[in-house]
Amino acid sequence: MGPFELIAKHGEHEEIIFCNDKNVGLRAIIAIHNTALGPALGGTRMWPYKSEEEALIDVLRLSKGMTYKASAAGLNLGGGKAVIIGDPKIHKSEGLFRAFGQFINSLNGKYITAEDVGTCETDMEHIFMETRWVTGIPKDFGGSGDPSPYTAHGVLMGIKAGCKEKFGTDNLSGVRVAVQGLGNVGRNLVNYLVKEGAKVLVSDIDPEKVKAHVSEHKVEAFSPEQILFADCDVLAPCALGAVINDQTIGKLKCKVVAGGANNQLAENRHGDQLRELGILYVPDYVINAGGLMNVFVELEGYSPDRAFDKTRKVYDNCMKVFSIAKREGIGTHLAADQVAEERIKTIGTLRQRHPGMSTRSFTTLKEVNNR
Ligand code: NAD
Repeated sequence: MGPFELIAKHGEHEEIIFCNDKNVGLRAIIAIHNTALGPALGGTRMWPYKSEEEALIDVLRLSKGMTYKASAAGLNLGGGKAVIIGDPKIHKSEGLFRAFGQFINSLNGKYITAEDVGTCETDMEHIFMETRWVTGIPKDFGGSGDPSPYTAHGVLMGIKAGCKEKFGTDNLSGVRVAVQGLGNVGRNLVNYLVKEGAKVLVSDIDPEKVKAHVSEHKVEAFSPEQILFADCDVLAPCALGAVINDQTIGKLKCKVVAGGANNQLAENRHGDQLRELGILYVPDYVINAGGLMNVFVELEGYSPDRAFDKTRKVYDNCMKVFSIAKREGIGTHLAADQVAEERIKTIGTLRQRHPGMSTRSFTTLKEVNNR
């Protein structure tokens, strides 16, 4: 399939930029999916893609996902993403990221980047040397640093919303929550859950991480094979995508699925199936938007307290999705899409009519950077 056919298949993207710099070995693609709500923000993924087609499909898919995430989160941001073709363990260099930064800079703020799989704070620092259109830069550069505590706090809010909807209370005391994956998000989430008095079940493919958690908190350890099917109230996938699939769905014992991982449903039909089974699904891109909220605050001039406060909004965002799902008699995954699409339509139209009005944060960003 040619690039234009692929673009048509994966969403009506506004702009795709191919970045090529032989001197530093840069081959990257920036996809701007939609800027109706604001500048397109999304991380840069570095991955040893097997083909250019695979890289293009990934960036098209991921950038569209960012449009939905930002919209459902109520942020004045559009959706974009970038991929760099290469092995992060071998092909990284200052020159490569600075060259990439120059490409980003040429877009004049239409695309703003951040960390993603395969990139880190140091890479953002190198991009920052060439452009101000980058977030997630180190704290000593005035950035917000690691977003995962904020993502995890948002996930906690989503779990509370899910419990309110399913059990009538958002008090997590005694609620059994199974956390799959004790990485950046899972580890922070466990800390929050323990403080809330939840009974936490944990699992990771790295036994050292499990051991550390069991000795630090009163948590129950499960094998990676068993955690998804543990007897619990809430299952919080915080590791991989596609964990809700044909093989797993019939064996789930939880009443709520609410975790930080991206793309938890293998296919949309699994969202319908969860609904039929009476399991409440808290849509992934609504519950895991805390990290995006954090970098949005960075654009306004960073304050950790404000970022933390903003992540509380995940609770209301989830409740809104549940109420639409009930009203329309549809799965929460579809209700989330509806919320996102409706906001893009309404606010996007408003912004076209009064372009200056809803770009306040964008203007503020300029002021911050001009200080
Ligand atoms: P991470 O790499 O730090 O952690 C993932 C953890 O999962 C690792 O400890 C890994 O050993 C473990 N794991 C892998 N396979 C497993 C399995 N089969 N069973 C149990 N554990 C397993 O990643 P992260 O930053 O914590 O992100 C976790 C998920 O959340 C990802 O899907 C990511 O895309 C998503 N997410 C993260 C953020 C963020 O702020 N970091 C924001 C939004 C979404």
